[in-house]
Amino acid sequence: MYTHKFKTSAAVFTLMLALGACSPQTDEVSAPPASTPQTIHENTLVLDSHVDLELELIAEDMDPWTSGESRVDLVKMKSGGMDGAFLIVFSPQGDDTEDAIAKAAGIAETRYLAIKRLTEKHSNEIELALSADDARRIHKTGKRIAFIGLENAFPLGHSVDDVAMWAERGVRYMGITHVGHNQFGDSSNPSYSKGEKQSQYGGLSPLGKDLIAAMNEAGIMVDVSHAGKQTTLQAVALSKVPVIASHSGARGVADNVRNLDDEQLHALAKAGGVLQIVAYGPYLKDLTPEQEAFKAKVREEMGLLDDMAFLSMDSATEDAYDDKMETANKMSPAANVSDLVDHIDYVVKTVGVDYVGISSDFDGGGKIEGWMDASETMNVTNELVKRGYSPEDIGKIWGGNLLRVLEATQAYAHK
Ligand SMILES: [Zn+2]
Repeated sequence: MYTHKFKTSAAVFTLMLALGACSPQTDEVSAPPASTPQTIHENTLVLDSHVDLELELIAEDMDPWTSGESRVDLVKMKSGGMDGAFLIVFSPQGDDTEDAIAKAAGIAETRYLAIKRLTEKHSNEIELALSADDARRIHKTGKRIAFIGLENAFPLGHSVDDVAMWAERGVRYMGITHVGHNQFGDSSNPSYSKGEKQSQYGGLSPLGKDLIAAMNEAGIMVDVSHAGKQTTLQAVALSKVPVIASHSGARGVADNVRNLDDEQLHALAKAGGVLQIVAYGPYLKDLTPEQEAFKAKVREEMGLLDDMAFLSMDSATEDAYDDKMETANKMSPAANVSDLVDHIDYVVKTVGVDYVGISSDFDGGGKIEGWMDASETMNVTNELVKRGYSPEDIGKIWGGNLLRVLEATQAYAHK
């Protein structure tokens, strides 16, 4: 729906330009083109703060984006006007054992190497950015911008020694934990199926506090998405520079534990940080009780009650799950671009336009009506324009705020 609407207005605009070019009035000083969503989108550095890489598409020496199956690739980025993205080195976490940590480190390595291959193989089309200035320079050349983020510090093991190594490799933000508490702190989603309690440490563990200091020193942004509430508040208080939530929502709009409540949001913003609203339906819009019950039934039937099983299902299982959930989806309209921008509006109203950004979580579960892949990115700008945001505000929301935090983080590290 959004795509169709936008294409219509873009076509009309192109037609107006064409007609204007034939008219004799253009011999005089021509007025700058009106600010249409398209011109605003084109003039903005559009940066998505969270894009995953599906493991099955990056096996061996595969180029992660040649299959055309992923929601983000160079073709889709170009057609949708997505200028850059943080590509994510994600690893799920297992039990706190040497074997599980080694396995997670192997998965992190696989994803890192895939990003490296991608930027090397397509060096004339995409380039690894190491700083905000880098991103702006690359944007001017017309190439896509690749940043690297590391989701879940679990593979670091029981030390923070590898933080500097990951910074050297280009990682510019790092998440503390994922589903389940880990050696660094409490998660927003304890693994109840493994017997975890609501809190293990009351926030950050002693090692988690070291991790925040190590990230500050290495010039890596602290990412509190997936962290529990106390973990988040402590990370914000402890960090010498602003922190980010790379892919979460606002709990004032949708009551999900992965979202930041008002206390977290105020703390994050007061310290100068930024909440990157994520295009993941369950965080944008609460399920109705009827939908919740149906979902629980499907998970049980498919043997997916366990959180780890649910989060690590392969794409065939995911397709089967999606098929079964179609019935539940019809019980209430799916989350769409308007729901995403509702969260942005809420953050702007609560703390201001300097503390909000956007993330898709594509290829990691993210997709909403109107923004199903990178080729539809313009629909988000279209909605922002419709809500009355100025080009300057849209620039802040689409990456300006995030780059400001990166600059502050790196300035501190260089001191
Ligand atoms: Zn995540």
